[in-house]
Amino acid sequence: MKNIMFIAPPAAGKGTQAELVVKKYKVPHISTGDILREISKEDSELGQYVFETLASGKLVKDEITYQLIEERLARDDCKNGYIIDGFPRNIEQAIEYDKILKKLGYDIGNVILINIDEKTLEKRITGRRICENCKAIYNINDPASAPKEEAICDSCGGKLYQRNDDNLESFQTRYQMYKEKTEPIIDHYRQMNVITEVDGNDSIENVFKKIDAIISE
Ligand code: AMP
Repeated sequence: MKNIMFIAPPAAGKGTQAELVVKKYKVPHISTGDILREISKEDSELGQYVFETLASGKLVKDEITYQLIEERLARDDCKNGYIIDGFPRNIEQAIEYDKILKKLGYDIGNVILINIDEKTLEKRITGRRICENCKAIYNINDPASAPKEEAICDSCGGKLYQRNDDNLESFQTRYQMYKEKTEPIIDHYRQMNVITEVDGNDSIENVFKKIDAIISE
């Protein structure tokens, strides 16, 4: 499978779609947000810095992301394709990512841009719940993706939690970061002719059908 990169505003469904791709194609899902959330639990200066930055909705320093991305992509499980989600998030990171790909001998693959309305995102943000154990994603505001029991994971029985940046205040900052910093990378990938746009306002299944069609082209 070709590598896949998702570009989308916060809560557009990147994580959910990535899970579906993983299930079908058995490739690793590399999410800088997930890696940083793990680091934010560490009892260290770095852990504290990452914790505070994530809660604020701003981006962590570029240099922190470069090292963790390069190390993760160099592992054997990425050699036959992977999904990258949450990186790059600004033009500096996009340029660095091109260099990392060159160094590792990988292709950029498919860049999938998920477009979605801001109002839909606001609704999704407050309802999102994640399984502590298997990382499955639910939404209590949407009957189609709500868990059967409000705080329990349907698939593994794990406890569901709410991200501490999934509130309207952090969302405003995260959305503004997306508009200001992340959207400019779309042009970078347009020039490389690797981008495909998908309408993310549709149901999870329909969005996945479109993504699957791009992957299997
Ligand atoms: P996400 O799970 O992708 O929504 O990311 C959650 C948070 O992690 C973001 O709001 C940022 O604070 C941080 N983050 C994730 N990826 C990056 C990145 N590539 N560069 C800087 N900060 C990031």
